Amino acid sequence: MAEFSMALTEDQLQIQKWVHDFAENVIRPAAHEWDEREETPWPIIQEAAKVGLYSFDFIANAYSDKSGLLMPIVNEEMSWGDAGIALAIFGTSLAVAGIFANGTSEQVGEWIPQCFGTQEDPKVAAFAVTEPDAGSDVSSLKTRAVYDEKSDTWTLNGTKTWITNGGIAGVHVVVASVDPSLGSRGQASFVVPPNTPGLSQGQKFKKMGIRASHTAEVVLADVKVPGSCLLGGKDRLDERLARVREGKRSSSQAAMATFEASRPIVGSQAIGIARAAYEYSLNYAKERQQFGRAIIENQAIAFKLADMATRIEASRLLVYRAAWMAANRIPFTQGEGSMSKVFAGETAVKVTEEAIQILGGYGYVREYPVERWHRDSKIYTIFEGTSEIQRLIIARSISGVHIR
Ligand SMILES: Cc1cc2nc3c(=O)[nH]c(=O)nc-3n(C[C@H](O)[C@H](O)[C@H](O)COP(=O)(O)OP(=O)(O)OC[C@H]3O[C@@H](n4cnc5c(N)ncnc54)[C@H](O)[C@@H]3O)c2cc1C
Repeated sequence: MAEFSMALTEDQLQIQKWVHDFAENVIRPAAHEWDEREETPWPIIQEAAKVGLYSFDFIANAYSDKSGLLMPIVNEEMSWGDAGIALAIFGTSLAVAGIFANGTSEQVGEWIPQCFGTQEDPKVAAFAVTEPDAGSDVSSLKTRAVYDEKSDTWTLNGTKTWITNGGIAGVHVVVASVDPSLGSRGQASFVVPPNTPGLSQGQKFKKMGIRASHTAEVVLADVKVPGSCLLGGKDRLDERLARVREGKRSSSQAAMATFEASRPIVGSQAIGIARAAYEYSLNYAKERQQFGRAIIENQAIAFKLADMATRIEASRLLVYRAAWMAANRIPFTQGEGSMSKVFAGETAVKVTEEAIQILGGYGYVREYPVERWHRDSKIYTIFEGTSEIQRLIIARSISGVHIR
């Protein structure tokens, strides 16, 4: 087990600086433009691929950091630059996590590099769980996967919604039901390879925030994939289903395994937005003069900044602890992953709202970045499990009671 230390290593500090420089020099200057365009910022993704920031090697290296801190460090800096562009670049990592959590080592080796494409021709990937009638209630997925033994082929049918990179991705990882009578325990994850017939993009959504990140429906109409695209393989699935049918506990639920490990990382993205707004409003409060003095000289403003700084620091501590636990395979017995996500997500909303207040009218207009940070922050109480669902997980974990 890696010792837990708050002192970042030389390597971590160097990578943090390198990512911060990219966020400051490439991402942040492009943030306003891509927010207005509401399109995937391919030139920025290409730039990230060119410098090696968007690549299989970089992500594998970050994930293999034994302290678990490197992924949150990198994600915080990227989102400090701009959360929408950061998600356009790193949205792929959810599909990567899905393959990593459920795939065999051959599948990991085959599909994860394809999620990224090449340095010259980068691709993005998507992880598709949510459906129009199955959001928080993942057990009610209607997308079906049916196996044909003769041809060793799975056929997928259904509609996914709110999918980051949905339809523009090369690799789509799709969670589908193989036995609806078993709820979430009857689900499995499939890789749908690039250009597979039957997979198409439905509606593209126009969003409140993170508008540089593409979000769309994914329609699966008789999508046929070979048996080798079932993550984990058929034998493991059959064994798992048999255990569930016998009433025994099953260790893995396809979608949940992915979301658990990614919660602290999502929390770190929220911290990046909060920190951007905090730094900006701190500087502004020192410069803005009213009644013949800087507005920060009023306790009403200075105390807001004190609370903002405190919440950001507390969020980071929760995120680092949960990321360290996940990397060292220490189970989240108190809902530690959910604690980090709910606290950091709500901190981002609160801090960005206070930043608007500190800027007054300047906080409310698009010429200044603060209103964008507030719009971007709100998604962090919704996706990857809403705040209510995170509290449900924490409450059940600490009480042992099946709270509804
Ligand atoms: C921009 C964006 C990107 C996304 N990207 C992806 C993606 O890449 N892949 C993917 O699979 N999904 C993605 N999602 C989907 C996201 O994870 C869901 O929106 C989220 O899980 C909530 O589901 P829902 O929207 O159906 O809300 P619902 O589940 O309908 O919830 C509505 C409200 O009811 C509350 N609620 C529901 N059940 C309970 C309960 N038991 N107790 C208390 N309160 C409850 C919720 O907290 C919420 O406040 C994305 C969503 C957005 C908006």
